[in-house]
Amino acid sequence: MTAQLDIDNLIGQLTLEEKAALTIGSDFWHTAPIDRLGIPAIMVSDGPHGLRAQLDEADHVGLAGSVPATCFPTASGLASSWNVDLFRTVGEALGRESRKWHVAVLLGPGVNMKRSPLCGRNFEYLSEDPQLAGILATAMVHGVQSQGVGTSVKHYAANNQEEDRLRVSAEVDPRTLREIYLPAFERIVKEANPWTVMCAYNKVNGTYASEHHWLLTEVLRDEWGFDGLVVSDWGAVHDRVAALKAGLDLEMPPHRGVSDAAVVAAVQDGSLSEDVLDQGVRRVLRLVNAALPALAEETDVSNEEHHALARRAAHESAVLLKNEGGVLPLRLPSGSRLAVIGEFARTPRYQGAGSSQVTPTRLDLAVDELTAGVGSEVEVTFAAGFGVGTTENDQQLLAEAVQAADGADAVVVFLGLPAAEESEGFDRTHMDLPTNQLNLLNAVADVHDRVVVVLANGSTVRMATWEGRAKAILECWLSGQAAGGAAADLLLGVANPSGKLAETIPLRLQDNSSFLNFPGDPGVVRYGEGIFIGYRGYDKANQEVSYPFGFGLSYTTFDIGGVTAQVAGAVETGDLAVTVTASVTNTGSVAGQEVVQVYVGDPQSSVARPVRELKAFTKVALEPGESRQVELTLVERDFAFWSELHGRWALEAGEFEVAVGSSSRQLAAKVPVQLEAPRLAAPLGPMSTLHEWLADPRGRELVMAGADAATNHLLADEELIKVVGTMPMATLAAFPGMGFSDAQLEQMIQQLD
Ligand code: BGC
Repeated sequence: MTAQLDIDNLIGQLTLEEKAALTIGSDFWHTAPIDRLGIPAIMVSDGPHGLRAQLDEADHVGLAGSVPATCFPTASGLASSWNVDLFRTVGEALGRESRKWHVAVLLGPGVNMKRSPLCGRNFEYLSEDPQLAGILATAMVHGVQSQGVGTSVKHYAANNQEEDRLRVSAEVDPRTLREIYLPAFERIVKEANPWTVMCAYNKVNGTYASEHHWLLTEVLRDEWGFDGLVVSDWGAVHDRVAALKAGLDLEMPPHRGVSDAAVVAAVQDGSLSEDVLDQGVRRVLRLVNAALPALAEETDVSNEEHHALARRAAHESAVLLKNEGGVLPLRLPSGSRLAVIGEFARTPRYQGAGSSQVTPTRLDLAVDELTAGVGSEVEVTFAAGFGVGTTENDQQLLAEAVQAADGADAVVVFLGLPAAEESEGFDRTHMDLPTNQLNLLNAVADVHDRVVVVLANGSTVRMATWEGRAKAILECWLSGQAAGGAAADLLLGVANPSGKLAETIPLRLQDNSSFLNFPGDPGVVRYGEGIFIGYRGYDKANQEVSYPFGFGLSYTTFDIGGVTAQVAGAVETGDLAVTVTASVTNTGSVAGQEVVQVYVGDPQSSVARPVRELKAFTKVALEPGESRQVELTLVERDFAFWSELHGRWALEAGEFEVAVGSSSRQLAAKVPVQLEAPRLAAPLGPMSTLHEWLADPRGRELVMAGADAATNHLLADEELIKVVGTMPMATLAAFPGMGFSDAQLEQMIQQLD
């Protein structure tokens, strides 16, 4: 057992200056050591899909190297696996690599919602759906932390764009925050106890996230029970004293000489209680204590094994969007010719740029892997088709590609977003593939009618303009260092695609509900679409999309049937449980995996609600002909919305729809579920409408009891009630001839309880 710091004792011995120093780091990646008291520094490092540990000179923007580490698929890929176990396993691997390099806290996962396809950092985020992101990231946090290494769930909260990210105020209404932007954090905090949470750069409704008491203390700690440490995003602190008061324990990197001096001065002049500072110090020391056991050990990592895991993860990350005529997997008999086209097959795009950028332990190239995979009896011709780092047409490369495709037995074109278009720090301005790549696809498709497109991009690209030219589309995302090998396995049928979209691919950017408000005006972005982001928006507006949320094909086929939903317990007793069962069968001829998805809708509600929302899912591996019964349990929260009126989650009695399927728009069955719940109504008052009074049993009783002839006359007239029923009672009382006075209304209000 490693010796632990005696925190109570240390608090008594630390000077004010030392305490202030402890709540800011000592350099880019380390907490502050206090040598005289034996408090060591611990190291933190990025990031979400691979360790980016910079041992020497800290260089935040990724120019200086980091230690070699396995580059797993980035979040948009890994999330497409919908595989909870895989997230845990990748988390364990990330934890092991962190241990090996004596890194105490890995700065990830990032669970911000994909509000717009344009966000430059979408490749680092999981989904447009908070339930999916929360469930998957919880497993990753469990995995990393099982190795004695901490995580930093980021960026809390409402950091959904790169444009102006250090200053912009995200203007989000409370319901939208609760239903969309907070739940992934909430689930992770409640279920996985992350060692740290990283605050966002931006403001939320006018206040910097780093100084946001409601976010950092009231919600995170008081409501959700977080007992770890809150660290700033790098450079997110503007007022160290205000941040400490709000609940931000550790400022990174340290603004030495300024932040510590401000804290010391504030304690000395009484504007900051030393207790608040002590609380931050305790949390830093607790973090050090948590990290010490793993730091005391040497850990071996098998790069081979981690690479194999990265390859498996990349298999599961790929989404087969289209496969007309079963063109995939490729069937290449001896003597046939395969044309591999596109520079990305040789110079892969496999991760994004910025703080998450990893130095991979090795790198698979699709062209090499395909060549090895097809064997010596198949001729492989490679043509670059386009140059990287340019969107200009290159006529010679184009001509070579056409020549390679012409007469080939199979043609695979590797397309995607150039590195310069996807990075931390800026957003895209459009969703299109570069024109030189589209020209290449068109030219190749002119000479070959079975073109397969393999895509490498961290966030969605528009497909509606070109997908007709491809017989098959395999969306591989930015799939890490094993992307090339995984693509070869998938194309050749060594692996069967099983990914499902964690984000919708719209027909056009304009269809996305954030379109009118992204990225906002200088200093402010209004989340005008409210809760209707991603598929919630496309479904509500009944919009056609290229590929819906949850969609993905396989080389086999599945049937989902026998859907039932059984209600047990009740809202009133706090034990509501709706058990959804379904059977899923592999109806094809090869082994594969299907994701059974459960969505809930509330067609009749007092507030606007999405048509349906993902609430549960499970990924099932099945041999040909095999069937499995799945069972998923929904709880009260899965049917509830955030009531701004009541400031809490609320479930409204009535009929809900539980839909089960293989995507948000391929629903095998929709089952009605009747739920009882206490009536949800605002407390009656003078500004409640006549309708509201009449809808409330006690309110109706009082209105009826006090009614004179004139009121009775009004109440009997349905047409009139329709017109005046929406008026507040106080307004009606002021109208002459309505039959009741202000005094009577006052009396009715007193009699309400
Ligand atoms: C990023 C964080 C990252 C940190 C440290 C910031 O710019 O937003 O995600 O963890 O830098 O590199």
